[in-house]
Amino acid sequence: MTFIIKCLDCGHNAPYFPTSTTCPKCGSQWREAEYDYELFGKTLPDKVKTRQFDLWRYRELLPVRNPNTSLSLGEGYTPLIRAGNLGLMLGCPNIFIKDERQGPTASFKDRQAAVTIAALKEAGITEMVAASTGNVAISYSAYASRAGMKLWAFVTSLVPAVKMREIALYGSQVIKITGSYDQCKQVAAEFARQRKLYLDMGARTITSIEAMKTIAFEIADQLTDILGSGENTRLRTPDWYVQAISGGMGPLGVHKGFREMQQMGWVDRTPAFAPIQADGCAPMVYSWKKGLAKAEPVASPKTHIETLATGDPGRAYEFLKGHVDSTGGAFESVTDEEAFRAMHVLAKMEGISAEPAAGAAFAGLFKLIRAGVIKPSETVVINCTGHTMPAEQRILGENWARDVKFPSLTQAPQEEGLLSALTQVAPERFPKVAIVEDTLEARRLIRRILQSQGNFTILEAENGRAGLDLIQRELPDLVVLDLMMPEMDGYSVIEALRAHPETATIPIIVATAKELTADEKNRLSGHIQALLQKGDFLNDEFLEEVRSLLK
Ligand SMILES: *Cc1c(COP(=O)(O)O)cnc(C)c1O
Ligand SMILES: [Zn+2]
Repeated sequence: MTFIIKCLDCGHNAPYFPTSTTCPKCGSQWREAEYDYELFGKTLPDKVKTRQFDLWRYRELLPVRNPNTSLSLGEGYTPLIRAGNLGLMLGCPNIFIKDERQGPTASFKDRQAAVTIAALKEAGITEMVAASTGNVAISYSAYASRAGMKLWAFVTSLVPAVKMREIALYGSQVIKITGSYDQCKQVAAEFARQRKLYLDMGARTITSIEAMKTIAFEIADQLTDILGSGENTRLRTPDWYVQAISGGMGPLGVHKGFREMQQMGWVDRTPAFAPIQADGCAPMVYSWKKGLAKAEPVASPKTHIETLATGDPGRAYEFLKGHVDSTGGAFESVTDEEAFRAMHVLAKMEGISAEPAAGAAFAGLFKLIRAGVIKPSETVVINCTGHTMPAEQRILGENWARDVKFPSLTQAPQEEGLLSALTQVAPERFPKVAIVEDTLEARRLIRRILQSQGNFTILEAENGRAGLDLIQRELPDLVVLDLMMPEMDGYSVIEALRAHPETATIPIIVATAKELTADEKNRLSGHIQALLQKGDFLNDEFLEEVRSLLK
């Protein structure tokens, strides 16, 4: 036997069996797996070299004795993607997205399901019960179907219908509970008790915490590939791990992963943890901000983000608080609107469509960077925990599509008809915006922000001289201008434009990376319409300026 189960309360060691969920000595439900770190620390690095890149790469550190490859759906080893555009917008160049949408059922719950179902199958268990806010039940259902197991899925009526139908599609029995998620968990627990069925215990499930820790192994591996090894160790640790939480299983597991790597000498520290909750259901955040040792539950959560609706975190809070405090991390909460807006920014700037729960993590990241808690020089890994199911109307707002209608469905359209149809797609002339900016990246970012929010004809110049020529030739409706540029700086461009009647009234937005002195600001005042500091301008602010100037 290469691992034992240690009680977190009394320290008693016991062998592992999935259906024994309490410490035989003190009855505690909080226990965790322990391995031979001395041995694996030395032997694993060589051993894994020839292995496939999936969740089972470090299988010696998982509580499954014989990993059953026939159950696998390709879980784990999701990409670590640099968020270049977000980095530019936030002035924080080392933001990396752990893209857990790329798991088999599009959320990070696939790790939990893959490991747990493998362990249950190994123990001969054929039926199980789980309460879920959607994603756990979807993942369990997928793996249960491969393992020939039956899942009773208790979900709250807030879970989007598409998610419920997916659970049913895999052949699980869906039980819809009209009530809070905490009530839903109580019903599921009672059902499991009466029927003597295995019950998923959330963050108290050994296999779930063990599954989540693989995220830490992968982050260290992938970050080392991208940025090189750590200062004193083979693998690299990011400065921050950011994740939206409900019960907190993810960060509890990820923290254990870093702790184990530290014990094995692979890394020398653990990242700071930033768990994010929705304002309408943020018992851990509020309790932490009040300095409470135990969490004050939220009886009736008020958030549309049902994935994050654990109102009573129980003792998970105490453990997570310990990790946040000992790593110099921070709990933070965001409004639903902030989460939806972050979802939008993420999709438009990075090409990643995430579900609102993941949006909350990004909104939390923005907030922590703005507050100076996360510093510009720090390396951040943010868990993009799940994919959008069909994006909701509420998030997109009005006018997100244009209609083209043909009078008749049977007639092939004549050229004339096609042309008139296309006039419905867009008017012929769009406002012209000239971007005068010497760094390619900044030009690309500003272009991307404009493109994602409306229709503009975008002209670009890479220095002041070329910019002035361009503006005099094209007479744009708006100029976005940098100050520090070769050939001719921004101040000279402004002077030249203001000196000619044809260009004197073109609105100018100055976007600069430089902290301006009072003198410099004086020089600009009266000549430009807006001043934006690069790095801290998020697209909302910038676009409001653009819209108001183009009216
Ligand atoms: C479950 C889930 C969360 C919350 O995770 P915990 O670590 O269990 O609190 C966040 N995002 C998504 C998409 C989830 O499915
Ligand atoms: Zn005990």
